[in-house]
Amino acid sequence: MKRILILLFLATFITINLTSNLTSITPEQKKIILIDPGHGGFDGGAVSKRKTIEKFLNLKIALKLKDRLKDKYDVVMTREDDISLHNKDKDGIKSKKQQDLANRRKMIDDSNCDLFVSIHLNKFDSPNVKGCQVYYADNEKSKIFASILNENFGAITGGKRRVPKPNQAYIILKNIETTPSVIFEGGFLTNAEEDAMLNTDEYQSKLAEVIEKSIDDYFIKIKSMENDTSNTTNENNTSNTTIMSN
Ligand SMILES: [Zn+2]
Repeated sequence: MKRILILLFLATFITINLTSNLTSITPEQKKIILIDPGHGGFDGGAVSKRKTIEKFLNLKIALKLKDRLKDKYDVVMTREDDISLHNKDKDGIKSKKQQDLANRRKMIDDSNCDLFVSIHLNKFDSPNVKGCQVYYADNEKSKIFASILNENFGAITGGKRRVPKPNQAYIILKNIETTPSVIFEGGFLTNAEEDAMLNTDEYQSKLAEVIEKSIDDYFIKIKSMENDTSNTTNENNTSNTTIMSN
């Protein structure tokens, strides 16, 4: 009997040890990325002279991005088909558009995402205007991500960049306190040269690469900033101890 008890005790001890070891080697949880291909369904977005419809290219770039990210991150999409996210079909176009944007904005909170990127293509009166434009939610992390995205666009595509701008007017970027959130306008459909490029599989992949690299770079930067802060805190603690011991 005694021997059985000892064996039982050992078995329990080993199980507890194994369990705690398993817990300690659990890998870091994957970051959640919310990708939003702009427009969809009744809302086509910008249309070019050669009849490129923005919503289709936004989705193509977004799906390429999802493919690049899916092994490293938990990817959530606002849409993966040609649909709008409005609630009721009987409402007018303006109301449907607002419901659609509000529902996309709600997904930023509901998905508990660590980063949000909305993919769009731009238009302008003058056909000469080209390049990317990044808008960001009015918080520090969004500003950091926007600046990385803007730099990488220049480095990877060689295209024209603009200074990223904070934007509180767009429903989708409203009242986001900490989540890094941006609208990435990847080019101008009103510029013939960019319109042609944006229609190629190769350039769409390049834009997906720009966003992928920027997401990777952003999390590396944030981690190093957090390490710096904790090092400074530790140094402060050490000097406090010294003062106290004196
Ligand atoms: Zn758009």
